[in-house]
Amino acid sequence: TAVDLVDQLAASIEARNPELGAYLSLDLAAARECASQADLSLPLGGIPIGIKDNINVLGQPCTCGSKFLQNGYTSPYDATVISRLRAQGAIPMGRLNMDEFAMGSSTENSALGRTVNPHAPDRIPGGSSGGSAAAVAAGLAIATLGSDTGGSIRQPASHCGVVGLKPSYGRVSRYGLVAFASSLDQIGPITRSVEDAARVLQAIAGHDPRDSTSLDAPVPDYLATLENGVAGLKLGLPKEYFGEGIDEDVRTQVMAKVDQLEKAGAEIVEISLPHTEHAVATYYIIAPAEASSNLSRFDGIRYGVRKGDGDLLEVYRDSREHGFGAEVKRRILLGTYVLSSGYYDAYYNRAQKVRTLIRRDFEEAFGEVDAILSPVVPTAARRIGENSDNPLQEYLSDIFTLAANLAGICGISVPAGCVSQGGQELPVGLQILGKHLGEETLLRVARAAE
Ligand code: GLN
Repeated sequence: TAVDLVDQLAASIEARNPELGAYLSLDLAAARECASQADLSLPLGGIPIGIKDNINVLGQPCTCGSKFLQNGYTSPYDATVISRLRAQGAIPMGRLNMDEFAMGSSTENSALGRTVNPHAPDRIPGGSSGGSAAAVAAGLAIATLGSDTGGSIRQPASHCGVVGLKPSYGRVSRYGLVAFASSLDQIGPITRSVEDAARVLQAIAGHDPRDSTSLDAPVPDYLATLENGVAGLKLGLPKEYFGEGIDEDVRTQVMAKVDQLEKAGAEIVEISLPHTEHAVATYYIIAPAEASSNLSRFDGIRYGVRKGDGDLLEVYRDSREHGFGAEVKRRILLGTYVLSSGYYDAYYNRAQKVRTLIRRDFEEAFGEVDAILSPVVPTAARRIGENSDNPLQEYLSDIFTLAANLAGICGISVPAGCVSQGGQELPVGLQILGKHLGEETLLRVARAAE
């Protein structure tokens, strides 16, 4: 029964989570209650799904990996993705660790504990949805939800050897997702297989009047075309994604997948995305700018932490000083700087213009090819602590994932085997990028790449 499944999963979580750190909390009573009422005839009937801790589930904590929301905040409502999962019979089960407010690529920025890579306990699981990816990889979840602003679903999926799908901007409602950078954020599934990713996307996709950026476009039947193969499809290899800086072993693994797709009948062509080199700079202006605005709601009055007993300004200052971690403060500083008068045109406006050029690169490419193939990350998962004094190095590692968010297109990470490093076998992912609302083709290619 669904209750048995919840109990089995809970027992595995209890046994393995202390060392893995994927789950921040688990309300077993709520999950059992939900399971006892699950309609097993529905598409996701009785399936427990783990939730990143920045997506609201009624009555559950929603910490965003931050001290700010650690004590005392309980979600007063379900995010739209959660109501849709429930409507398909799924059971929201457990809250998954993440970089604070989804800022990071390693889950080391969580203020609430560390998550390790299930394949190598001294290494990062990736981030910011590190808990969501590690839980699936370790068998502590069947599927999870993550959020992807610049790679936070695809990158941890790649490092943990699982499937991670970032839908097109507007495909999935963001209502009930705690906003990081609103023009980039999307919710998506992390799963063991492409088929499971298609099933979860099917459940959560579609228009929502409560998110003005969600698109009123029909949702295709993703499972119906999943096995159609890649014969006759044209797949592009962007030369900018295979150049210097990518680890040789990673390139070899990715190219093996490219060969697999070619043997399955796809035509492989080289393409160019000439503005790729500007993606990191553009993203790290736009994302902090939007974050500095979105995070102004954490003022010590409305949610979570309240510090300071003097005047209002002191409450704001002390609450934010105490509640936010170093990376979040760094982003707020960067964001307010690029939005301040005098710098707005030089940084923020210019970044928006480059963003348009990046989007056009993809529009041109998709005039020629059906999907784009690349690595997800230039290297396999690094050791925990390695970049702690070097935020710039950490930002640079996002080079292959950021552009998809800037352009609003869809992307997926599919396991591409492992590389050996220091006696460890570390997973690598193949990234497939598809045109805006092109999830049907994206999933088809991904399925053929499994
Ligand atoms: N690593 C990127 C950042 O730190 C992307 C994070 C994300 O997608 N949420 O902003």
